[in-house]
Amino acid sequence: MPIAKKSKNKGRVFFCGAGACQAAITPRGELKLCLMIESPRFKILPGGIKTAWKRLSGFSRRIELSRGRDCLSCRLIEECKWCPARSWLYDRSFTSCVPELKIQALRRKASAAKKRKKKQKIKE
Ligand code: SF4
Ligand code: SF4
Repeated sequence: MPIAKKSKNKGRVFFCGAGACQAAITPRGELKLCLMIESPRFKILPGGIKTAWKRLSGFSRRIELSRGRDCLSCRLIEECKWCPARSWLYDRSFTSCVPELKIQALRRKASAAKKRKKKQKIKE
C-alpha cells in the first residue's frame, strides 16, 4: 500500500479498505480481512456471501471504533511500512507498534533528512 494512500486515510485502521471494500477468501470457503490476517474467518456457506460479508465488515467497523493505539497517532506513520496486518502478525492486535518497522522508519526519516541537507548545501 503506497504511503500516500495511507496518509490520505490516516484516521482509519484499515486504510487499505480491508473489510470496507475488499476481502480475501480461503480455500475452505471462508471470508477474511486480507491474505495476511488469518483470523477472524467467516464461513460463506450455508448463509451466503452477503451474510459473511456483513459479519466481516461489522468486525472491521468495531475495530475502527475502538482504535486509538500506537500506530494511528505515531509521528513516524508516513515513513513506516506499517499496516494492520503487520501488527496482527506481530502480536495479534491490529494497531500495535512493530519494533522492527519502527527501526526502519527511523532510518528512513534520518536518511531523508540527510538528503534534504545535502540538496540545500548544493543550492547554496
Ligand atoms: S509500527 Fe511503530 S513506528 Fe510504525 S507507525 Fe506504528 S507506532 Fe509508529
Ligand atoms: S496487507 Fe495490510 S494493507 Fe494489505 S490488505 Fe492486508 S491489512 Fe490491508
